[in-house]
Amino acid sequence: MKILLNKDDLFEALKSTSNLGFVPTMGSLHKGHVSLIKRSKKECRKTIVSIFVNPTQFNNKKDYEKYPRNIKKDLSVLSKLRVNFVFIPDKKHIYDFKRKNKIKILKKDKILCAKFRKGHFEGVIDVMDRLIKIVKPKKIFMGEKDFQQLYLIKNYIKNKCKVISCKTIRDNQKLAFSSRNNRLDYIGLKTARSISKDIFNLKKILKKEKKIQKILSIKKKELGILKNVKIEYLELRNKFSLKKTKKFKDSKIFIAYYINDIRLIDNF
Ligand code: AMP
Repeated sequence: MKILLNKDDLFEALKSTSNLGFVPTMGSLHKGHVSLIKRSKKECRKTIVSIFVNPTQFNNKKDYEKYPRNIKKDLSVLSKLRVNFVFIPDKKHIYDFKRKNKIKILKKDKILCAKFRKGHFEGVIDVMDRLIKIVKPKKIFMGEKDFQQLYLIKNYIKNKCKVISCKTIRDNQKLAFSSRNNRLDYIGLKTARSISKDIFNLKKILKKEKKIQKILSIKKKELGILKNVKIEYLELRNKFSLKKTKKFKDSKIFIAYYINDIRLIDNF
């Protein structure tokens, strides 16, 4: 496994590599990341994983500082998986040029996390565009756990490479793996798991109900009070257009909530 710390090393290492699979991450690797890497290894001749906690996608400085980092453990995970390359750039290697045109997301896309985390997706699209230009992969592997991110990247980074969506991996109590789970204490973890179970049950209820929006709004209030968490949004949206819907068919439930200062998202 080659560890690449800057662009020159990366260009040299990748110069004769074709059919490259790319898994961009912010590190603190878990089973969700591992599933993406395994898929890339299956579909591509070589696989590169990047670890970069991108400052521009954090709308809250404290959140950026507190984001879990564990490079030593990550490298051991990646080496066991026999990944070909790991790219661990510094900020200055990624942000070495200024864009002529600022990245802007469309008004219609300012929903869910884009509504509550101002500038977040502009930061994500910017860094992904920069990373893709550097790595030049054939395919990029991304998780449905961050469904809106996947949706926006597919739309904004058209034609540059193929985006492969990968299923959300959950623990045996249905909680989606997330690097942020590392920050939860025992009670927090229990709460997050019980919220996941509740939403899976809610999905079964919505399937049979007509007054979907009313049930969602009651459930949002109820969850907030019973679990003592701040629910930022709980919405049913069409999974192809991300438009709000009253129809269960082709829809997903999207949730974002805070346990103390830890923000978690999921979709079901
Ligand atoms: P992150 O390190 O959080 O930026 O995530 C890197 C990639 O892993 C993104 O494409 C995520 O959607 C994906 N990912 C994160 N958690 C999971 C999960 N539980 N299952 C599948 N993919 C995931």
